[in-house]
Amino acid sequence: MLQKRSADRYKELVENVNDAVYTVEFKTLEFTSVNQAAERLTGYTKHALLHKKVFEIIPKEYIPIVQKMIGLKHKKKSTVYEIEIIRKDGTLVPVEISSTALYDNDIPVEILGVARDISSRKLLEKQRSIFISLITHEVKNPLTSALLYLPLLQKRVQKDDTSLHYVETLQRQMISIDRLMTDFLDVMQMRVGKFRLHRERIDVNEIIDEVINQFSPTNRVIRKEGSAKKVFADATRIKQVLTNLISNAVKYSRDEEEILIQVTNNVSHVVIGVKDFGEGIAKEDQSKIFHVFERTDVVLKKTIKGHGLGLYICREIVKHHGGKLWVESTLGKGSTFFFTIPYKV
Ligand code: ADP
Repeated sequence: MLQKRSADRYKELVENVNDAVYTVEFKTLEFTSVNQAAERLTGYTKHALLHKKVFEIIPKEYIPIVQKMIGLKHKKKSTVYEIEIIRKDGTLVPVEISSTALYDNDIPVEILGVARDISSRKLLEKQRSIFISLITHEVKNPLTSALLYLPLLQKRVQKDDTSLHYVETLQRQMISIDRLMTDFLDVMQMRVGKFRLHRERIDVNEIIDEVINQFSPTNRVIRKEGSAKKVFADATRIKQVLTNLISNAVKYSRDEEEILIQVTNNVSHVVIGVKDFGEGIAKEDQSKIFHVFERTDVVLKKTIKGHGLGLYICREIVKHHGGKLWVESTLGKGSTFFFTIPYKV
């Protein structure tokens, strides 16, 4: 009695969930049961669906994927994949299918599936990708090319002091917008899982020396201690992390204070520390600085200068390499930002 009641409840639940729930016969791929959501999703009545085979409502190009997934059922694997289905009115709906097989003596006899309408997620992804390409082509590229003209202009106005000041101010502002755009695009790529590394065996020591050299116009003392073993990493991205951390160390400490780049080799990875003796970071802010742009509290914003995407990006780059990035800091005494890069993938 109790069993019957709980079976009825399950039936009612399946009938009323928002996702299409269905079963199909394994051999013929004919629908053997469907719920109300399946009717809404496909536009067909229950009766009509029960006279259809799966491939009748799937565009040709998706059939190989579905066949492959059905094949996996022999290995008792549940599958989740995305395809489109053809509705009764001919329109296509993107769906996420999660399916599993029901077995009789280890032989699959029926497939139990759930189809979720993912139209709004797909639309959002499309809008995001249009937005990224708009920012890249309509903002970032013109800005980068405009930046190339400024040094030429600078040469021409060198004798006129006031104009030179204008050009330099313009250049500083444009470089700052260009950096923000680059960071913003990086964050977008990371968020949609499209961030890729180009890894090869590299000498981190050379990168550190190169980055230290870049900072020579600041006249800061930046010293390297220790030497790194070779790692398998993306040189441009590691350079980006180091540049960001050193640039912060310069920004948040006084001119007369030195900056140390400490390198040690552990069993499986290189550890690089960027140490400054500047203002330091309060304990309660130490975890927040890595995802500043997600923060909603206003309190910290007062103490944070800049746009705050840098550390988030650095941490993501290091994470993609299989390493970690963290900070040790005492307010008023300085901070050390550490990150690790594994020797192997
Ligand atoms: P930005 O410097 O552009 O704000 P970051 O993501 O690089 O962006 O840094 C986020 C915040 O972390 C900074 O605004 C600052 O408050 C804090 N911070 C980062 N590095 C240091 C440092 N070396 N010393 C003190 N505070 C730091």
